[in-house]
Amino acid sequence: MPKDTFTPHGKHLIAGEWITSDQTFRSEPAHGPAHDYAVGTPDLVDRACEAAEEAFWTYGYTSREERAAFLNAIADEIEARADQITEIGTQESGLPEARLQGERGRTTGQLRLFATHIQKGDYLDRRHDEALPDRQPLPRPDLKMVQRPIGPVAVFGASNFPLAFSTAGGDTAAALAAGCPVVVKGHSAHPGTGEIVAEAIHAAIQKTGMPAGVFSLIQGGKRDVGQSLVQHPLIKAVGFTGSLGGGRALFDLCAQRPEPIPFFGELGSVNPMFLLPEAAKARGAQIGEGWAGSLTMGAGQFCTNPGIAVVEAGPEGDAFVQAAAEALKGASSQCMLTDGIAQAYKDGKQRFDGRNAVRPVLVTDSEGRNALPNLYETDASDYLQDHALGEEVFGPLGLVVRVTGPDEMETLAKGFEGQLTATLHMDDGDTALGKRLMPVLERKAGRILVNGFPTGVEVADAMVHGGPYPASTNFGATSVGTLSIRRFLRPVCYQNMPDALLPGDLG
Ligand code: NAP
Repeated sequence: MPKDTFTPHGKHLIAGEWITSDQTFRSEPAHGPAHDYAVGTPDLVDRACEAAEEAFWTYGYTSREERAAFLNAIADEIEARADQITEIGTQESGLPEARLQGERGRTTGQLRLFATHIQKGDYLDRRHDEALPDRQPLPRPDLKMVQRPIGPVAVFGASNFPLAFSTAGGDTAAALAAGCPVVVKGHSAHPGTGEIVAEAIHAAIQKTGMPAGVFSLIQGGKRDVGQSLVQHPLIKAVGFTGSLGGGRALFDLCAQRPEPIPFFGELGSVNPMFLLPEAAKARGAQIGEGWAGSLTMGAGQFCTNPGIAVVEAGPEGDAFVQAAAEALKGASSQCMLTDGIAQAYKDGKQRFDGRNAVRPVLVTDSEGRNALPNLYETDASDYLQDHALGEEVFGPLGLVVRVTGPDEMETLAKGFEGQLTATLHMDDGDTALGKRLMPVLERKAGRILVNGFPTGVEVADAMVHGGPYPASTNFGATSVGTLSIRRFLRPVCYQNMPDALLPGDLG
């Protein structure tokens, strides 16, 4: 059966109304037709935030069952548009169909997981200190505590996950589950995908009778849309996934507000991978091949891409590097998400080409919007002196850092900035060194893996997708998994409160 083609109308969705504006910007799809989209404006941001605030007075007081039904309805509506979402998503992002299909499953799975999670109620962290009227020298009052939603939340999705980290992605799902209305700033790399997902959310709002202002999507096209959104006085927190530069600029704006608000930015990372000596001896070449696969997956456009491998000098390390280089040589060129990201990849590679302390292992020339892998090598002492070598290159570029032995490996580990992940490849004989590195890695990364690759982030209760700056702007939080709901909640204590005045979740 032929699938229906989705033709975007290019409008913003503000509190249930599809609205256009005077100016438009044109999408730049990897393939397929380009479309025009209304440019967002600060006035539209204001309208969406006012509507979100108004909606909060009812949505913030819906039952968990009602919100669960809403989240499940969004998932259903996304599934109902499955083929159209895949079609426009692949056109805009250049990602293969199978990837978009998998990401859709992750997105709907995430929404349904939150629906189940809030119904269980553990996330409310309810506490009760009973009154002690006879306590000396002073009586203790009755104290109850519960987590309450914070109010309207702004969400910025990333270009590399047009579904799972975008319009109805993890941030939106967590905020809506908590009871917070959401205003999404659409990503200019996938405005059509954003529009059709907004349509699905709109349909779910109508089906479940939620207030219209609970969700708005304002297309971008100009930087002042995002800037005015994070500065809007009615916005109480921001969920952001994207680049360090963009995230930092918006974080600074949040901090400078008359009322500063939390900015939960999930940014870039080089995700160091440590190859311990016994593992290198036993299966260095095999790990090298696996690394090449992880580095090139999705054209290397993952925030969890393991861009740096730390390996001892010597023949075992050589076998690892050789196997990685061989596998990378065979990798085909892949389309990148946007022209800008393809250019940034070329610029990042040039940073390595121009450095004496860096040895080329595999150097390629990427053309147009396509990327080929590159591999470089350097020594720990040079790496530690050159801050730029530790900056993320978004794409399939790997850097091997050679260390002289365990002491230098530990020194290097201490020199890394905050990371989303760190990986140990180890065998039983490496346990002592692994134990030595763990206290360092725990201070550096949100997730530590053994004998695996960090690309692929499970959506689960125990997942942490975050880490010390610059991996994220808030090391106490995660943007993936059920714990991510905590970002949009605030503990409130109720002292000597009659039951009639307590929130339903404490009843
Ligand atoms: P991006 O260029 O920073 O864009 C993210 C969003 O922020 C877009 O809506 C963008 O608007 C907006 N923005 C960027 N700079 C801004 C500024 N100065 N003022 C106002 N708005 C601004 O990031 P991306 O290209 O989408 O994603 C790629 C990066 O994200 C990579 O570095 C990757 O590692 C990281 N990432 C991190 C995670 C994670 O979980 N930590 C996950 C995925 C990706 P426009 O639409 O106008 O560009």
